[in-house]
Order: sequence, then structure tokens, then C-alpha cells
Amino acid sequence: MAVNRSRKARGARRRKRRMDRVEHDLSAEQWTALKLAWGGCAYCGSTAKPLQRDCVLALSRGGRYTLDNIAPTCGSCNASKCNDEVTGWLRRKRLDERAFLLRHLEIKAALALRFPSAPDAGPEAPEATIP
Ligand SMILES: [Zn+2]
Repeated sequence: MAVNRSRKARGARRRKRRMDRVEHDLSAEQWTALKLAWGGCAYCGSTAKPLQRDCVLALSRGGRYTLDNIAPTCGSCNASKCNDEVTGWLRRKRLDERAFLLRHLEIKAALALRFPSAPDAGPEAPEATIP
């Protein structure tokens, strides 16, 4: 079988390798706890649709697939945010940036206590300062 050497295919393979490597960092139990803590989409609050895992700091920006960097989001927020920087995206969408950052910190702190063995559970500063 010929290997597809297009730039797009190479990008997809690279992305898949990256995801394969980091996928296991978030356990099913941690994901359930995150969904419960947020109680809906982390960005718009929607509870109508099944929630997806969004990396608050996108993988392409150096974020990791871990407890303190994952937020549950609805499909439309996840697709819209994509690789954008989270605070700029929230502002553009006219969503409550400050409320999100505060809640994200609270939930991170609470889950870090609950999952002390999580690899990245330390008290890390968020990527952006709260306005
Ligand atoms: Zn949403």
C-alpha cells in the first residue's frame, strides 16, 4: 500500500502519534469527575449535548492531555475553539472569560486534592492572568 505523503496526511499521522502518546494521562475516573464538577460545557454551560474533551491549552500550543488541562465542552465550542488560545477565543465568542478562569482554577484545585497521584496535579498557574 502506498503511503500518502501529502502534507495533510503527514500532519494527521503526527497528530495521531501525539495523541497516542498522551491519551492515557487522563483516566476514565478523572474524566467523569471533571464532567460532574463542570456540570455542562465549560465554556457556554450547555448541558444538552454529550460533552467532549477539550484541551484548555491546545496540544499544538504545548498543552497536555491531563486532568488540569482538560475541560468538558459541547461539540460546537470544541469545534469552534479548535487550536485557539482560550481567553482570546472566549472574548471573541462573548463568553464569560473571567468566570471560566476562576471555575477552572477551583475545579483544578479540587480535583488535584482528589487525585493526588495525577501527573500534573501540582498548583500550576493558568496560562493567562485573570482580568
Ligand atoms: Zn459549549
